[in-house]
Amino acid sequence: MTDTEIKNRIESLARLDDAAWESLCKCCGVCCMLKHSRHTGTYYTSVACNNLNLGTRRCAVYSTRLNNRVFCARVDLSVVLRTGLLPDSCGYIEYIYGPAPIQIRPDFSKVIHERDMSHATPVSQMESGNSHPRHTTPGPWNHIIDDSLGWRTRAMELRDKYADFGRDILRRIARTTQK
Ligand code: SF4
Ligand code: SF4
Repeated sequence: MTDTEIKNRIESLARLDDAAWESLCKCCGVCCMLKHSRHTGTYYTSVACNNLNLGTRRCAVYSTRLNNRVFCARVDLSVVLRTGLLPDSCGYIEYIYGPAPIQIRPDFSKVIHERDMSHATPVSQMESGNSHPRHTTPGPWNHIIDDSLGWRTRAMELRDKYADFGRDILRRIARTTQK
């Protein structure tokens, strides 16, 4: 993708109506997994929001998910443009930057719900392959998924590169909606 193509894609994403926006979601369920932020980046865990149906990977409360669930955030353009929140293979990321080099397909048979976290066996540091200090208290950090799955690959650099351009668009949208 050329520089111009990527900028045009960001611009066109900003203009999509709700139906077209929703149609880009691949319903992979990946963004409904708990994330753990550290200074080295955002890491996905094998712990899913309690509202995610682990069989269908669909949200059980989608139409009302933003009413009373602090954890859930609408995936909008600002989320798409922020580095680290969505995987390369997210439909919105692919729309802007092209097909991901690796499709993220977690083994959902190993995914647990947030409510079951304290009973589940943590992913071992060796198995997870990450270099985080081991936490002694239970939490999503005990379930960080092996980053070799490619959560954060190509699009990270690209997302950094176009962050300023994306912010300009978001400011422009905010000004338009205030009028
Ligand atoms: S409430 Fe939000 S995070 Fe939870 S399953 Fe639904 S969309 Fe995903
Ligand atoms: S990661 Fe992207 S494609 Fe997958 S469910 Fe979330 S918004 Fe949809």
